[in-house]
Amino acid sequence: MIPVVRTKRALERLLARWRGKRFSVGLVPTMGALHAGHAALLRRAAAENDRVIASVFVNPLQFGPREDYGRYPRALPADRKLAAAAGACAVYAPSAAAMYPRGFSTYVEVKGLSDLYCGRHRPGHFRGVATVVLKLFNQVRPDRAYFGEKDWQQVRVLETMIRDLDVGVALVRVPTVRERDGLALSSRNAYLSAAERRAAPALRRALEAGRAAARRPRARPRMIAAAVRRALSGTGLKVQYAGVWDGRLLAAAFLGRTRLIDNLPL
Ligand code: AMP
Repeated sequence: MIPVVRTKRALERLLARWRGKRFSVGLVPTMGALHAGHAALLRRAAAENDRVIASVFVNPLQFGPREDYGRYPRALPADRKLAAAAGACAVYAPSAAAMYPRGFSTYVEVKGLSDLYCGRHRPGHFRGVATVVLKLFNQVRPDRAYFGEKDWQQVRVLETMIRDLDVGVALVRVPTVRERDGLALSSRNAYLSAAERRAAPALRRALEAGRAAARRPRARPRMIAAAVRRALSGTGLKVQYAGVWDGRLLAAAFLGRTRLIDNLPL
């Protein structure tokens, strides 16, 4: 079974061994509760690097005060097995106290992008994401890092950070992995009741309705977003936002207390 590395020192020892052999290193940052979406990132990383590290860290900095940090699913033993089966060589699972010791006071803010869509509804979220990802990059110094297109805005925020701060890591985008009924895999899907789970694929279907609207002559972003909202009415999903941005159609919706996001290329 692959090792679980808990401290920066143990990580440093592992990396020193690999660097001595001039191995390339791929990093797959996650918050754990790993599923087939994470596995796709890990397999891609394993195909493109000599060694792969999966980080598992539920990052307190990217959760709002009324969000689900406390109840976010944590399943390290299962994560270790899934990561190994998908090609990871180690799991890096630091503690929150080690990542944010007393006196921690430096943050990464990607202006503009972070205030739209998810960022507008989750103030501070992308600042937390950018800060933890830059820390992980500095700790692991990977050649490549793998992120899912399911979190489109996150990918764009991190690409901007990498460009603006001259971070020498190649970001690799990996397409969204879905259930057979179209629902994008997410650790948060575990929150859904059976009835909510049956309703959840409506989000992807609504995005497809929006994409169909986009193909009509003289389609405007407002009409496309309206088509998504229309498709969601009566499904039990409550739209938080729907919009066209960066060549993608993006949406977020609540099913009960569970927030789902998804996006499609236009
Ligand atoms: P998370 O553990 O939810 O923070 O996600 C860790 C990484 O896995 C992020 O880069 C996500 O975009 C990616 N990811 C999550 N769900 C999926 C999915 N269904 N398909 C592809 N990538 C995903």
